[in-house]
Parts: sequence; structure tokens; C-alpha cells
Amino acid sequence: MANKNILLVLVVLLIFFSSVIIVFADELVVYSARNPTLIEIPLNDFFNQTGINIRLASGDIENLLDKLIKDEENSPADVLITVDAGSLWKATQADLFQPITSDILTKNIPGHLRDPNNNWFGLSKRARVIVYSPQRVSHSLLSTYAALAQPEWKNRLCLRTSETVYNQSLVAMMIAKHGTEETEKIIKGWVQNLGHEPYNKDTDVINAIIEGQCDVGIVNHYYLGRMLRSNPDIPVNLFWPNQGESEDGVHVDISGAGVLKYAKNKEIAITFLNWLSSKKAQNLFANKNMEYPVNPNVKPYSLLQIWGNFKENTDHISQSGKNRDKAIELMHRTNYK
Ligand code: FE
Repeated sequence: MANKNILLVLVVLLIFFSSVIIVFADELVVYSARNPTLIEIPLNDFFNQTGINIRLASGDIENLLDKLIKDEENSPADVLITVDAGSLWKATQADLFQPITSDILTKNIPGHLRDPNNNWFGLSKRARVIVYSPQRVSHSLLSTYAALAQPEWKNRLCLRTSETVYNQSLVAMMIAKHGTEETEKIIKGWVQNLGHEPYNKDTDVINAIIEGQCDVGIVNHYYLGRMLRSNPDIPVNLFWPNQGESEDGVHVDISGAGVLKYAKNKEIAITFLNWLSSKKAQNLFANKNMEYPVNPNVKPYSLLQIWGNFKENTDHISQSGKNRDKAIELMHRTNYK
């Protein structure tokens, strides 16, 4: 019996060391549009777990896409990480990814947050929410994104510029739901209700509410979360829009990734994505930025729990890419700067 156990340990050790030796020889090259300070923690942990070194090249998504298109099979990159689904869709249209088969990813990531052809996978969720001044706005007056076009919000709404991918993605999903004509009416209403020229950042929108420039705005939830984490007393609340029974839920975009067509280390890339969807890595990937895990079995960061559960829009997130150009044209037509 004792001998059997020793043999088992030896076999396990041999498997362990041989796999470590094999993977040590490899490294993974990751192109990422995510803020480098957010990605370093999971990358270091992946190295500690597997011994696989990751070379990270961070940059603006347009530059990364241009480089991948230009370099073709000479590209050293194995994985591309983006901070929105529209860019994943764009990379797929440019034939930059290869489909991968992974039961782990299929199990860990809900269907509306990954490509039906397995080219890309969501890794964390970013909810675009309504924020408001609890001193000047009764929570009961809020309902949907569309309702912010009503005349009662005249001179009270603040928005980030239409140049941001976050608003393009929201409007693209609204087009998928309401159609172009109806969405155009809503956006026109928003523009008429602006209390200030559109701002460059989501945090500017929150600050404008704090300073009394506006009463309501639309931002990604984590900008408010991060501000509340450093000062719990700021006078801005979060409202989950589109929660009614007949409503489609909050617009949720993703940070996500795909394995590149010319990846030199395809198997390691798949291991990396599988790991990112796992319980431990989901928290490492999402928590620092206060994002929500995509894996429904992983609890969100403790500070997010004060906002409770919410219904999210489960229309396929690829619509945000498909309708992106239409959304941009519509925002130009309605003079949304
Ligand atoms: Fe952001």
C-alpha cells in the first residue's frame, strides 16, 4: 500500500515537472486595450500558477487592430483583450481571430456575452447606468434610458460625448431594440435636455452632478463605484435602468478576449482564456476596477453588493458592433457632440 502511494506521488511529480518544464519554454504574447494596472494582477497570478510568462503589449484598440491587420502572420501576438464588445466584433470582421473549442468557456460564460462562432469571449461586465442627485431627484421619477428624453429633464441631463465607445455601444443596442427611427427620437430628446455640453469622461458627468450642473447622467457603474470607494459620502446615487417587467434590462458591455488567427501558442492561449473564466481569476480580473464577473457562479466584489442584483439586457452583445456605424451616424444627425 505504502509503495503504491509513493508510486502515485512520483507519477504526479513527474507529470507536474514535465508540464512545468514544457510550459516554461513558452510564453504568451497578449495585446491589450485594458488599462495595464488592471491586467497586471491576473497576469502575475497566471505566471505564479503555471510558470507561463506573459509578454503584455498595452495600447489603444485602434492602434492594436491596425498593427494586427498590418503584421498578418508575422504578428507575435497570441491573444487580444479589448474593453468593449464592438472592438471584438470588429476584430472578427477583420478575420483576426480563430474560433476555439472550449467546454470550460462555454460553461463559464453566458451565451449573449460570447461570439456564437467562438471567436471571442466576454471576461467582465460593465453596466451603463443612470446616476442622479438624491437631493434633487426622487428615485421614483427614474425608469429607462428612453425616459431621459422626456421634457421634465430639460437642462438637467449630463452625458459623456458621443465619441466614446461606451455611448456608441449603448445607442447601438437601443437601435437593436427600438429600431433607428424610435432611437433617433430618444437621442434627440437627450440632446434637447442637456444641461451642459457633453463631457470627455464619465467621471466628469458624475462631478457635474456633485457640483449641481446637472441632476441626472449616464455612466459606467464602476466610475461611480471607484469614486464611492474613496469617498462614500459623495451625493450621487446609482439607478438601474430598464428594470420593468416589459423592459430589456441594463445595457452591459464587456471586456473580453479572443485567440488570434496567427497565434504561435494556441494551446497556451486557450489555457489562459479558460483560466480567466475561472472563479479565482474572474475576481482578479474584475475586482480592481469594480467590474462584474461574467461567470454567473462568481460573486461580485463586496462593495458592489450594496447596489443589489439587477436585470441585464441579454440581447446578444455583438449587436453593439453590428449597429455601431448606424449609431455613430444617428448621433451625428441628432447633433449629439
Ligand atoms: Fe472605462
